[in-house]
Amino acid sequence: MSETKRNQFNKREDLRKERLEQERRLKERMGKVKHKIAVISGKGGVGKSVTTANLAMALRWKGYSVGVLDADIHGPSIPKMFGIHGQRLQAGPPGIFPATGPMGIKVVSIDFLLPSEEAPVIWRGPLKMAAIRQFLSDIVWGPLDFLLIDLPPGTGDEPLSVIQLLPEMDGVIIVTIPSEVSQIVVKKAVVFAQKLNVPVIGIIENMSGFVCPKCGAEIDIFRSGGGEKIARELLVPFLGKIPIDPEICKASDEGTPFVIRHPDSPSTKAFINIVEKIEKFIQEREKLTKT
Ligand code: ADP
Repeated sequence: MSETKRNQFNKREDLRKERLEQERRLKERMGKVKHKIAVISGKGGVGKSVTTANLAMALRWKGYSVGVLDADIHGPSIPKMFGIHGQRLQAGPPGIFPATGPMGIKVVSIDFLLPSEEAPVIWRGPLKMAAIRQFLSDIVWGPLDFLLIDLPPGTGDEPLSVIQLLPEMDGVIIVTIPSEVSQIVVKKAVVFAQKLNVPVIGIIENMSGFVCPKCGAEIDIFRSGGGEKIARELLVPFLGKIPIDPEICKASDEGTPFVIRHPDSPSTKAFINIVEKIEKFIQEREKLTKT
């Protein structure tokens, strides 16, 4: 073997070992997280991040220890929704520690890697994944009951690569809006989960109906019932409907915890209801794995 070839071989070997070591660390650190749930959507703008943030708060409200991993590479918005945008992560000898959001929710976002709000993520594909893999393997989550992962929208290479980096997912939650056109992409999201061999916990229909605060009239802006219909057709559970609520939008822009500020709103009740269905899913799954 020539010297150049030997050098190339050694370099590849080092990279391979480094990667295996990162995967081992990732597995070890995520091993302390009891349940890992990814939140996906067939396309952007359907409220995937809002749903992730509010489900995390609803879970926390029920007493669980919760973490959120914002892996939405091109539009990381969880820190803003949690009012911790601009925070930096603390690093110590054991690794990188998550930031602390409302109610003590642990938060890690790709956003914390970016130099400024305006900076787009323009790393090249393979480089980007290597950076994300290293970043994820360095995070010290500590013991958690739930880790919710906000994945990039769509069902392309990016969400696929991110989910493949993460070990042993309990399942995915698919967020959609009720309109007919959105249902087509929901099918893709279900196939996406099946391809990855990850159970579909269920579908959430967000932006489902609107009650005018002035006159009380009910208006189905994006229609209603589409999420439920597609869940029936695809034989996956339907988790619930969340209405369009201007207070949800306001809270996520201001970074204030919606479910705490508006405990009696129909939207908060919808989030709590969905959490109960997630709990049932987990219980059933645990029963199955024990037998
Ligand atoms: P995605 O993560 O799917 O791209 P976001 O969660 O960022 O979407 O939501 C897109 C926008 O819609 C945000 O401004 C958010 O506040 C708003 N939004 C999402 N769901 C609702 C809702 N149910 N009621 C009112 N506004 C909502």
